[in-house]
Amino acid sequence: MFHCSICGRALSEKEALVHQGKDGKKEIICSACFEKEVGIDYETFRYRRENAKQTFFAVLFCLGATVYAFIEKGWPYGLLGIVLTILVYLFSSRTGKPKTKEKETNQK
Ligand SMILES: [Zn+2]
Repeated sequence: MFHCSICGRALSEKEALVHQGKDGKKEIICSACFEKEVGIDYETFRYRRENAKQTFFAVLFCLGATVYAFIEKGWPYGLLGIVLTILVYLFSSRTGKPKTKEKETNQK
């Protein structure tokens, strides 16, 4: 059994979140306190982190394919690969924004 180090609520292993505080000290907190500390809910945080990872691998793959096309097929294919890589990057980072945050930025 864990306890939230901010509000003291008892947490199951599944609910407990490890949060690194400003002083670098790791603490066990609940999802409500995580939202207060980080400013976004844990699901959004995890979604963004996963999305950033996926974008990174997609871009890495495209760059690899670009280098291969450049060497094997010549520079026009390499150039096409660079354009595709940029498109993949732009598309990935655009879909990475959660809907709730988009609403907030629209209001400003
Ligand atoms: Zn808490």
